[in-house]
Amino acid sequence: MEKRQQLYAGKAKSVYETDDPDRLVMLFRNDTSAFDGKKKAQLDRKGMVNNKFNAFIMEKLAAAAIATHFERLLCAQESLVKRLQMIPVECVVRNIAAGSLCRRLGVEEGLDLTPPTFEFFLKDDALGDPMINDYHIRAFGWAGAAQVEKMKELTFAVNDVLKPLFLAGDMLLVDYKLEFGLHRGELLLGDEFTPDGCRLWDRETREKLDKDRFRQDLGDVVESYELVGRRLGLNFD
Ligand code: ADP
Ligand code: UDP
Repeated sequence: MEKRQQLYAGKAKSVYETDDPDRLVMLFRNDTSAFDGKKKAQLDRKGMVNNKFNAFIMEKLAAAAIATHFERLLCAQESLVKRLQMIPVECVVRNIAAGSLCRRLGVEEGLDLTPPTFEFFLKDDALGDPMINDYHIRAFGWAGAAQVEKMKELTFAVNDVLKPLFLAGDMLLVDYKLEFGLHRGELLLGDEFTPDGCRLWDRETREKLDKDRFRQDLGDVVESYELVGRRLGLNFD
């Protein structure tokens, strides 16, 4: 497999074409950003930690019959993935109230959500990733009705796999964001699952172990990501 020209560079990852038109290399960089790219920093080891973390989670999901784009780790900061035609929406499930839900609805952070909630956001930094619903997705042609239903079903299926996985490591999966895309007509989970795109709290103390450490200047950002990984049995050395 030969890495060829860069297809695009996002805020935290870069994507490269390969000699196989169906496969891409995803490079996890040390760049980190929040607030739609307005706050930025370089964090040592983050690319490596997130790449290995993502591989671990994607393999757990595949083992639970959730189809993903992930193929294999290539090196410390790179993974091989299936090329997807991305659907420009973010799918968010929440088990506990935090972040934008609290700001929007005036609820207290930490409130248990039963049942868990589901939200769609349009992936558009310039517009501040506005919340949208099924009708917008269909009316603007971002995805069809069956794909909308499948994204919801798969996003909840991920909850069923990952909530107990994190709980076994004494962590609460508060919320997470997923992106999907199409590969030869099949809807696959794409992008990443790392502490950059979810919230994880210590079960007892509710200490934040995810990107909120960066957003809220709590320090030890990558150290916390590594702690989360180690609690799941991962080794980053
Ligand atoms: P952002 O776009 O939010 O700045 P990243 O820095 O993570 O995010 O960039 C990664 C980009 O690659 C995103 O636009 C994401 O939608 C896209 N992407 C993720 N997985 C795939 C895939 N398998 N095929 C094509 N594009 C992908
Ligand atoms: N999220 C993300 N990318 C985004 C927006 C949200 O990964 O562009 C994740 C975020 O880390 C959290 C969940 O989705 O785990 C819900 O985020 P929320 O809507 O609360 O927005 P935030 O306040 O984090 O911007």
